Amino acid sequence: MPDTTAAAQATAQIWSIQVSDSCVVCGACVPVCPTDALTLEDNNVDVRLRITPEDCIHCEACINTCVMDALHFDWGNPEPCIAAASAWVHCKGCGEAIATRAELDLVRARLQAEFPPAFLEFTENYCPACKYRQAGMPKGH
Ligand code: SF4
Ligand code: SF4
Repeated sequence: MPDTTAAAQATAQIWSIQVSDSCVVCGACVPVCPTDALTLEDNNVDVRLRITPEDCIHCEACINTCVMDALHFDWGNPEPCIAAASAWVHCKGCGEAIATRAELDLVRARLQAEFPPAFLEFTENYCPACKYRQAGMPKGH
């Protein structure tokens, strides 16, 4: 946690929010940022997290939101930081974007010991609405 005392405020601008390789580009940190220091660059093919440290007020809301522990403060690194892009995975039923490849790879890694490959394929390839349709159940059932 950065030193936020008055004596440190003159140098606070170089406590710089940065992102690590563990980011799966879920986007959860973006709406909690009160200053729009975090944004998503989305071209409908892939998406990446962009950080503008000079806009950060060090509130830590994003750090407390990220389940991947991907955000941290660096001392003396004020450069904008752009996380590696992750491709969107689209539903094979309706074409809607489901999640990023990095998110789905994480889910697969965590579930593969307990669920058969066919189930994981189905989970990765269809959005919730199309899963319900394929299972013959009304949406929201
Ligand atoms: S930094 Fe964390 S919360 Fe933000 S997009 Fe990456 S994984 Fe999601
Ligand atoms: S610490 Fe606060 S102000 Fe800085 S990027 Fe995170 S949410 Fe935004």
